[in-house]
Amino acid sequence: MDNKFPGKDISLEDIKTKFPLVAKKNKHHKTRFKISGVEFGPNTIPIFAGPNMVESQKLILDVAKNVKTIGANFLRGGAFKPLTFPYRNKKYTETREKGIEWLGLAKEKYKIPIITEVMEEKYLPLICEVADILQIGSRNMQNYPLIVACAKTQKPIMIKRHYGASLRDWLGAAEYVMINGNKKVILCERGVSAPHTHKSTSRFLLDLQVVPAAQEITHLPIIVDPSHATFWRPWVEPMTLAAVAAGAQGIMLEVHPDPKNSAVDPLQSIDYKNFSNLLKKMKKIAKVSNKRLI
Ligand code: PEP
Ligand code: MN
Repeated sequence: MDNKFPGKDISLEDIKTKFPLVAKKNKHHKTRFKISGVEFGPNTIPIFAGPNMVESQKLILDVAKNVKTIGANFLRGGAFKPLTFPYRNKKYTETREKGIEWLGLAKEKYKIPIITEVMEEKYLPLICEVADILQIGSRNMQNYPLIVACAKTQKPIMIKRHYGASLRDWLGAAEYVMINGNKKVILCERGVSAPHTHKSTSRFLLDLQVVPAAQEITHLPIIVDPSHATFWRPWVEPMTLAAVAAGAQGIMLEVHPDPKNSAVDPLQSIDYKNFSNLLKKMKKIAKVSNKRLI
């Protein structure tokens, strides 16, 4: 008997022994849970929107107000950032503790829940005061001590897929959260390393196929971040719509009032008008799949 799922490196044995908690118990098993009143599961598409980085108090308050009005369910933004190169100009400097404080102000003033990245365990108590979801960035997908520490807080956890990780390894990371008694886990596809075998369109390639592939194996919600995958503003809209069509159970987008002047990722952030238009189009595609934005 062929015990492998078609085209994947995951065997039935893996499902039983490597990630039994993350694996579906039967074909129809899909987890539903609420985070700060927002429903995750098979029928809803929660929206996470905000700048790459919490650059200033003024910026994050403006974004919180606007994305909430337009229809976002969560405000995203990093105060602690995994920047690829260590050299910073003034614009790139992480805002760290201050940034967390500003996220807290935005949450209080505009009543929007927060997702933000955790880079080091020592900042967890501070971040947990403000965050509704702890984001494990792609670069930390296999930082198991960090994942376990985050899991133990019992805050919901979003695990971004590392751009070099297989579905098998990604599910292994989620199992580390669940084995620590934390059931609110969200998986986020954010683009894999573009293959070097052909001239690629960008640094990363959005692996949309992983959405149905993951859903075949896990009951956890799979969301998609087309901003980091495409790296290029004009492609964010088509790939977001494609992600919804592919069955994404949530979408994360980088939204900035003045994308060209965003401190990080100025080429991929979209402005409020684009965000608003995109949500309208997403609603139409969601309807076709019997799903809804919230
Ligand atoms: C982010 O969401 O800000 C981020 C750094 O993403 P990733 O970990 O996917 O690169
Ligand atoms: Mn980014």
